Amino acid sequence: MAETAPSIMKSLFQGEILEELAFPYPTMDPEEADLVRIITDSLSRWAEDNFDAAEADDHARYPEGTLESLAELGLFGLNVPEEYGGANLSSTAFAKIYGVLASIDGSLPVTVGGHSSIGLKGLLLYGTEEQKRKYLPDLASGKKLAAFALTEPGAGSDAASIQTRAVRQPDGSWLLNGQKQWITNGGEAEFFTVLAKTPMEIDGETKDKITAFIVDWGLEGFTKGPEEHKLGIRASSTVSLFFDNVVLSPDSMLGEQGKGFKVAMHVLNSGRLSVATGVVGSAKANLKELARYANERKQFDRPIAEFELIQEKIARITVGTYVAESMAYLTTGLIDRGDVDYSLESAICKVFASEMGWEMADESVQLMGGLGYMKDYPFERDLRDARINPIFEGTNEILRLFIALAGMRAPGEYLKQLGRALRDPIKGFGFLADYAISRVREVVTDTHLGAAHPALREWSDRFTRYVERFHRSVDSAIMKFGKGVVDRQLMLQRFADSAIDLYGMLAVLSRVTSRIHAVGEEGAKHDMDIAQIYCDGAWRRVRRNLRQIRRHQDRSVRRLAAHMSDRQMYDFPL
Ligand SMILES: Cc1cc2nc3c(=O)[nH]c(=O)nc-3n(C[C@H](O)[C@H](O)[C@H](O)COP(=O)(O)OP(=O)(O)OC[C@H]3O[C@@H](n4cnc5c(N)ncnc54)[C@H](O)[C@@H]3O)c2cc1C
Repeated sequence: MAETAPSIMKSLFQGEILEELAFPYPTMDPEEADLVRIITDSLSRWAEDNFDAAEADDHARYPEGTLESLAELGLFGLNVPEEYGGANLSSTAFAKIYGVLASIDGSLPVTVGGHSSIGLKGLLLYGTEEQKRKYLPDLASGKKLAAFALTEPGAGSDAASIQTRAVRQPDGSWLLNGQKQWITNGGEAEFFTVLAKTPMEIDGETKDKITAFIVDWGLEGFTKGPEEHKLGIRASSTVSLFFDNVVLSPDSMLGEQGKGFKVAMHVLNSGRLSVATGVVGSAKANLKELARYANERKQFDRPIAEFELIQEKIARITVGTYVAESMAYLTTGLIDRGDVDYSLESAICKVFASEMGWEMADESVQLMGGLGYMKDYPFERDLRDARINPIFEGTNEILRLFIALAGMRAPGEYLKQLGRALRDPIKGFGFLADYAISRVREVVTDTHLGAAHPALREWSDRFTRYVERFHRSVDSAIMKFGKGVVDRQLMLQRFADSAIDLYGMLAVLSRVTSRIHAVGEEGAKHDMDIAQIYCDGAWRRVRRNLRQIRRHQDRSVRRLAAHMSDRQMYDFPL
């Protein structure tokens, strides 16, 4: 992906709406859609006859033969090019199959995602031809499982602080030492993408820079810890890895030396989107059960589905699922077009879907009443499984900071240039003229989302108006705080939450527009209800968040948190 590739969300931070990237809503190639149907039908049949999710959860491991069956179904090679034995599916097709996998069980997508979305993704993106030829056939067939190892006991969110080190030996090989923690698929995997610090000479100084390596299971000095006991996704493997003077061959480096952080970040973009599409798949399956139960279960002589408070829950879960799905598949569509930057979009999809998924799992237990709490039904397991999603692939706190700060980078650069031009107006004349024109355009244009269907005009107008307000708020925050924005986390969170809602609105407006074009307003009336419910809440949340950038209680929040950190106890006498 080119550094300058267009990004819907990065542009939105600058007040620019890349309508042509968001409309029309992407669709899948019909031939590929047929192939997806064949794979998902076989997958569902296999699960029906052979897979017991409760048993896998209970025993904290898959029933014998599960991974072999997934391999036979071709699930480990979905995103691998055909020349290496894979199915070479588009991101959209991969996501659809992944969603069906997640509807069967919470652990299965983690295992397949740990392999395809993160384990072998670095090899796909940065591997040499020799490396791909050596490893991909066995990975695509499922003969070998892949894992991605970044996290360490001392380096979680602060991934750049890893301590694992690889030092080049005189014969060109690398000596690897260190420890990795909580590595998905670690127990069974034989192919590892491992991030390590490597010393490099830069400007006459030796600096430690992160580099990605391929590490084969079986090398001397490479050992694994026992399986972790987890709250959810219990059948998936999670272990520690230990490297004690492990010798890596000279050709085991993945990508360039010192560019491992970039490898890791690109890999995680893909992993984040998988989290989102997995949540969507599981939510869709859940809704089927909830709607059925609400109609069957009678209290006060009526099905509980007739009570408004239950109706609101079902409507809210449906809206959340639809919005997460719209965002996720707009993003996979962007990836399939090629040459777009989707880093912000995938982070947004992950944050929104993982929190929606948690709320959905929680509300599902509530809707089911006491039955939801019992192990005989899948709802308590879904709740436990859903809890990991806001934590891994970058915690939602870190991702919110990333969304806001990466989004603010371009406007920050722009404003820096503006500052320079204002200090030297003669040299900066051209820039100032462009700036003046862009501001005049903002003021005089009656912006509306031309591609959105006229029936959605109220919401598309709200969207464009709030993009403008959002962009002005971003600009003024950068001018006010400069580099100091980095430490204003509560403010950044408000920008990130606004960005999430704006992307949600855009995705929904695009999808519902396509739906109206396809089936007319009457045919799309429930989609329009969803647009109405979501967009009305979204613009109000954006307005509240932007207002709170100026008026807030942040000082009291920080003072109270500092007091609690200091005292380390609750000391409020009653
Ligand atoms: C089941 C499971 C599977 C996993 N699989 C893998 C895997 O396959 N490969 C891999 O490399 N890793 C994996 N991980 C690790 C996972 O990615 C990390 O747990 C995650 O990145 C968070 O790191 P941490 O747990 O050390 O939390 P910490 O970084 O210690 O964070 C603790 C809390 O502080 C917050 N926080 C931290 N820094 C900041 C900040 N600057 N500002 C505001 N808040 C902050 C966090 O959001 C979090 O709420 C897995 C973890 C689990 C639990």
